[in-house]
Amino acid sequence: MTAPRLPERSANVAAIVEAMSIKFNTMVYELKRAGKSVSVLSLGEAFFDLPVADVRDLPHPQIFHYSDSRGIPELRRSIAAYYGSRYGLTVDPEAEIILTAGSKLAIYMALLAVLDPGDEVLIPEPAWVSYSEQVRLCHGVPIGIPYTEGVTAWSEYITGRTKALVINNPQNPTGYRYSEKELQYVVEVARRHGLWVLSDEAYSDFTPDAEFASTAHFDQSKSHVVVFNSISKNCGISGWRLGYVIANAALTDQILKVNQHLSTCPATILEYYIERHFSDILTVTKPQIAALLEKRSRVAAFMDGIGLKYLPGDSTFYFFVSIAPSRLGSEAFCVRLLEEKHVCVVPGVGYGSSCDGFVRVSIGTESFENVTAALAQVAALVRETAG
Ligand code: PMP
Repeated sequence: MTAPRLPERSANVAAIVEAMSIKFNTMVYELKRAGKSVSVLSLGEAFFDLPVADVRDLPHPQIFHYSDSRGIPELRRSIAAYYGSRYGLTVDPEAEIILTAGSKLAIYMALLAVLDPGDEVLIPEPAWVSYSEQVRLCHGVPIGIPYTEGVTAWSEYITGRTKALVINNPQNPTGYRYSEKELQYVVEVARRHGLWVLSDEAYSDFTPDAEFASTAHFDQSKSHVVVFNSISKNCGISGWRLGYVIANAALTDQILKVNQHLSTCPATILEYYIERHFSDILTVTKPQIAALLEKRSRVAAFMDGIGLKYLPGDSTFYFFVSIAPSRLGSEAFCVRLLEEKHVCVVPGVGYGSSCDGFVRVSIGTESFENVTAALAQVAALVRETAG
């Protein structure tokens, strides 16, 4: 009997790399299961103290069923009002916004809606781990721009195939917040070259004194700029998959088709819950975000004191810390840090090939004392492996 012919898997998906942050967090779960205590500076979220409200008064039986594929109108209206009052952007809740099951999905669906195979997407580094892999899933070509290049150098990477540019503001993993001048410049470049600016604003609330400018503020017609945001991140409910995309009506219609075929809608009960408690949640999280940013300043001062260098930034709960004197690549460094010092951080190489001399440190989940003790271990390993 002849051997059965085996079906083949997609070469495109086989070439996708695992998310570096998730890979290391999985190693932590394994160590913890083995009874080890680990300082976790690798989680991409902030732990807030959040009350749980009653769900029994939410609209019944609607909570059990699919919602409008754009998301429930009430929450679309709340978010449109929020972007309007906070970030000075006029959003039509009927036509220019879709609520999604997390902002990760929103970004992927928008990439599907703008890319054709072979299209290039500029991704300034350090860049959140999923942009390049999502572009590849869309059969596009991610073009990383080394972190040493400022905004004014980005246009040198534009070719006849460039379709879009991804900007993350404020930035995971540095906490960098783009200035209004930089954002205006990026929008101007996009206008000149006919590019989409995909502006990921997942951490927009994690900025000092609410100092944050949405990229779309400089493109009110949304002819070039698409905005993504994350209720999961900003409200500290990452396990509740809720995000959204804001785009012009024509592009929104395209993304809507993708949404209808991929997820239909986010979990309806969560949409109603957030709509009902949106302002209460913001009231509860606001002081906690302020405390987190204050902790960020103290952690920065601690690193300055022990000579750890990091890229500039004043927002989010992330630092991109240099391990430059170490002779180890960032992945080998992080494996040793985890095995020998029981501290987990994420290898910089996951944020782009120009970033192997860094590790990403998240201060969102451990106490100040644990964070500084762990950073002292990072500094110690840098010294032990220098040369
Ligand atoms: N953008 C950035 C920059 C992120 O760090 C993350 C999550 N780590 C996301 C988007 C996705 O967040 P979510 O899907 O939970 O909304």
